Amino acid sequence: MHKIDIELVEMTLDVMKYAIDRISSTNPKIGKPKKEEALKALVGETITKEGIGGEYAFNLWKNYLMKATVPIDHPRHLAFVPASPTRAAIMFDLVTSASSIHGAYWMEGAGGIFCENEAMKWIVSLTGLPEGAFGVFTSGGTAANLSAIVTAREHWREDGTYKGEKGLIITSIGAHSSIKAMAQVADVDILLVDSEEKLTGSDLRQTIDNLNPHQRKRLFAVVATGGTTNAGIIDDLEGIGHICKNEKLWFHVDAAYGGGALAADSVRPLFNGIEQADSITIDPHKWMFSPYDCGAVIYKEPDLAKRAHSQEGSYLEIFKDEGAQGFNPADYQIQLTRRVRGLPLWFSLATHGTDKYKVAVERGLELAQIAGKLIEKMSHVELVREPSLSCVLYRRIGWLPEDYKQWTYENHKKGFALVAPTKWKKGEDFETVSRFCFINPHTTKEDIEDILNSMI
Ligand SMILES: *Cc1c(COP(=O)(O)O)cnc(C)c1O
Repeated sequence: MHKIDIELVEMTLDVMKYAIDRISSTNPKIGKPKKEEALKALVGETITKEGIGGEYAFNLWKNYLMKATVPIDHPRHLAFVPASPTRAAIMFDLVTSASSIHGAYWMEGAGGIFCENEAMKWIVSLTGLPEGAFGVFTSGGTAANLSAIVTAREHWREDGTYKGEKGLIITSIGAHSSIKAMAQVADVDILLVDSEEKLTGSDLRQTIDNLNPHQRKRLFAVVATGGTTNAGIIDDLEGIGHICKNEKLWFHVDAAYGGGALAADSVRPLFNGIEQADSITIDPHKWMFSPYDCGAVIYKEPDLAKRAHSQEGSYLEIFKDEGAQGFNPADYQIQLTRRVRGLPLWFSLATHGTDKYKVAVERGLELAQIAGKLIEKMSHVELVREPSLSCVLYRRIGWLPEDYKQWTYENHKKGFALVAPTKWKKGEDFETVSRFCFINPHTTKEDIEDILNSMI
């Protein structure tokens, strides 16, 4: 299994050919999901005592299984938050895998971690956080949010007054589902401001003023969103940051989706106040064109994260020894063994330079404006709200929720596009609407027109 023979050489060539084909393809087919039983019927038993052979297994992958996946970088994949990793980044994902680097500790991963840190310095510079702020790459925004919440809670509990108290966080219903899920993991309560529009300083002020004394005692953090996943709304970071400072609350900004837009001069002022954050989540696998999976958590004071996350164990002591000194990513988030998942981003940034990133993000913003104008011109659709960042919410006049669902399935089945419905709060009700989220700079105006026309 670990030896080198002619079969391995052939497999290597097959894999490289596949990778080159996929990386250079500009219009990969949108695959359809199939039921598990249907896939099983197509491929049969794949895990057997004797093995089915690499060539056979690879053919099953190419002929059936890969075709039951959606290429997330398709120019007409505008659902959820799409992705569009650069070709340089994907190539280096192969290099990252081939290099077998343990990315937890400097002692083993120094060269790789060095590269990650160079990329991280650029990301941190976009935030405007003060000297000393730094971060690490995580498996995604969820892990980054959890790492930040746990750091905040541990820091809060350093004060003995709060020992034994269950923590409380304030955020808004615009916050990503992972905030609620991770608050549950960390066993802290969450209070949601009941608006999906921009969370303002005065909303927060009012919410804090309405707390009873025990709730106020338990409140330790506020989570603002730097680009809501549903609508691209950026909370009033300036106002919220100011209140957090006065109230001595941890200020976390979840910019998992929107963080890439910090690089775009045209919208950067909307993020003013982010430099006051105690921690920030940014997903390079969303708007920084990294392959999956690559999130990031950044701390104003990384030492606080280290106090919360550094793992102890007799087998780990050597890593903390003088002789092995350096930056240990394991100390700043929840994971120990980790891939150097920031390495593909480093290579792509080094290859292309940061200016190209600005241009590519600006294109996503521009596509949202183009979509907005097209929607205003057409009579069968209308905007639900002005496009924000690269998100556009719009309705097909006269459609019921079922129509949106059917339309989504139909487009997917045809391999034409993947655009999913969402809900938008209207008074006390939630209206089903359609949503675009642009990431891929190669999406065209024609793509958008074709999708809108398919709703007539
Ligand atoms: C996508 C997203 C997350 C979750 O990130 P994953 O990388 O999917 O774990 C968290 N917050 C926001 C605002 C997001 O858009």
